[in-house]
Amino acid sequence: MREICNIVVLTGAGLSAESGIPTFRTVGGVNYWDTADGTAYTIEEVCTPEALERDEGLVQRFYDGRRAALADVAPNAAHHALARLAAEWDGGLTIVTQNVDDLLERAGLPVERVWHMHGTLRSALCRACGARTAWDGALEGGPACPVCGVAALRPDIVFFGEMPHHMDAIEAALADADLFVSIGTSGAVYPAAGFVQTARHYGAQTLELNLDPSAGSIFFDETRLGRAGTLVPEWVAAMLAVGALR
Ligand SMILES: [Zn+2]
Repeated sequence: MREICNIVVLTGAGLSAESGIPTFRTVGGVNYWDTADGTAYTIEEVCTPEALERDEGLVQRFYDGRRAALADVAPNAAHHALARLAAEWDGGLTIVTQNVDDLLERAGLPVERVWHMHGTLRSALCRACGARTAWDGALEGGPACPVCGVAALRPDIVFFGEMPHHMDAIEAALADADLFVSIGTSGAVYPAAGFVQTARHYGAQTLELNLDPSAGSIFFDETRLGRAGTLVPEWVAAMLAVGALR
C-alpha cells in the first residue's frame, strides 16, 4: 500500500455478529430479524415509519428487546482493535458504523469518534420536540419525554425510508480519504453501499474485510475474507507498524 494518512472505516453487522448481535437473515429474498423469543420480523413489520404508525406497540417491543439484549453482549477483538487504532493512529481517522449497538464505545472509542449513521439503540427521539435523550429502558407504554413531557418517544433509529445521519460529514471525510476500509457490511444497503465508489472517485485505496464476498466486492482494490475478530486486529497491527504519512 502507498503511504496513508487519512483513513475512513465503515463497519456493518459483520463487526458485531461475533459478539452475538443478531443480523438480518435473508430467506427467499426477504430479510428477517430473529428475536430472543424465536419470533422473526421483516423490515416492513418493524423498521419503517409506516410500521411505527401502524403498530407502535410491536415496533417499540422489538427495539426494547434489542436494547435490553445489549446487556448480554460484549465487544469482540475487532471492536477493541478499532479502539486501539483510534488511540494510536497519528493520521486522520473517521469511523462510520451502520450498527445501532454500542460495542465500539464499550471497547473504548470516545462517543464523538463513532458516527452512527443509522442511529443508536441507547437513545430515544421525541416526535413532539425533536430532542434526543440517552435511554436504556423500555419505550413501550409511552414514557414522557424528559424535555417536553409529551409521551412521543420513539427509537432513535433510522428506519428504511428515512435519511441517515452525518451524510455531509461522511462525504467530506471520503473526499479526504487515502484509504477506505469496509468491515463486515453486505454492500447491499444504500447509501453506505456507495461509499466505496465515492472514495475511489476521490482517489482513495479501498479494502474490504468481510466473512463472505459482498455485493460490492467488485468495487474494492482488495478483499480479505475471514472473521472480523481475526482480520481487523491483523489489519490494525499492520497499519500501526507502518504509521501515518504526514
Ligand atoms: Zn419532547
